[in-house]
Amino acid sequence: MKNTDIKKLIQWYDQNKRSMPWRDTGNPYDVWLSEIMLQQTRIEAVRPKYLAFKKELPDIASLANCDDDRLMRLWEGLGYYSRARNLKKCAMYLMEHYDGKLPDNFELLKKLPGIGPYTAGAIASIAYNLPTPAIDGNVLRVLTRYYGITEDIRLPKVKEIIEDKLNDFYRSKNPDSSYSSFNQGIMELGETVCVPNGAPQCKKCPLNKNCFAYQNKMTESIPYRSSLKERKILERTLFVIRDNQSFLIHKRPHKGLLAGLYEFPGVDAHLTKSEMIRHVELLGFTPIKITTLPDAKHIFTHLEWNMRAYEIKVAEIQHILDENYYLVNKKELQSLAIPSAFRKYTDWYSLRD
Ligand code: SF4
Repeated sequence: MKNTDIKKLIQWYDQNKRSMPWRDTGNPYDVWLSEIMLQQTRIEAVRPKYLAFKKELPDIASLANCDDDRLMRLWEGLGYYSRARNLKKCAMYLMEHYDGKLPDNFELLKKLPGIGPYTAGAIASIAYNLPTPAIDGNVLRVLTRYYGITEDIRLPKVKEIIEDKLNDFYRSKNPDSSYSSFNQGIMELGETVCVPNGAPQCKKCPLNKNCFAYQNKMTESIPYRSSLKERKILERTLFVIRDNQSFLIHKRPHKGLLAGLYEFPGVDAHLTKSEMIRHVELLGFTPIKITTLPDAKHIFTHLEWNMRAYEIKVAEIQHILDENYYLVNKKELQSLAIPSAFRKYTDWYSLRD
């Protein structure tokens, strides 16, 4: 991210941050508790529960010593009670191993019970101003838009790219930087300006000058999420290589789609007639007659094959290509385990010479 944008973001955050009871208290326990409460619950629902919880259990020691019934009562309304149980477990661990304090070290934080990389990064950066990423859904949305990352936001790779970009900034060791304000700034921007539902309010955004999505009118398409139901479309060209007696048939690999079944040889692309001839000649066959067969489509659950096919008549099939190829006559062709994906072509030969 450009230095000017980092400065603008931090400045924007300092001027626009919403008031939260856990914000700017300087107490790592507050950051930890609020982050855990906010994991599956909206801010407005968390606010009163947080205040009540903090009033009764103001620090790690009181949480570690709280009896379970009281803890559950304090957690009531927030749901996902395992979060509360993990909080107490971690508090007990901190009492035993860290003198009742959250360590100011990202790696150590990550090893604590119930604390994952995001929460560890949030505590380290927000409470201790350490240069560590804390990447949640808001941060991913803002930064995929800012950097123009068009790959599916759910891919681990996208998170890695964002993490690398953040680490570049952290490594730059800009003495003016507040890592705490920077991380919270991106989070706050994602919650209030670059919002998850509805259009982002780019005109108000401190990053708009260099935001790829805004500058390229792509805020509707980034972040990109592929439809889980979307099928991959694969173009294929099949070669029905035959002489007067036999057809050349290929046995599919013993793993993967249609494993171990028979098919007409083919390639995963649509070849033109001349490309197809070149390909068949490279396989060692000399066509004497070529017939274009009808196109066919076959739909699998996550994949669609769009097939074009050519019948390539040769004088005599004198060789097979390797042990996965077979020569079969027309009768055998009808009885082989050839999947229905190729029915259009097997039917074709059951009806013709
Ligand atoms: S300019 Fe718009 S799309 Fe880009 S980060 Fe800001 S709010 Fe999000």
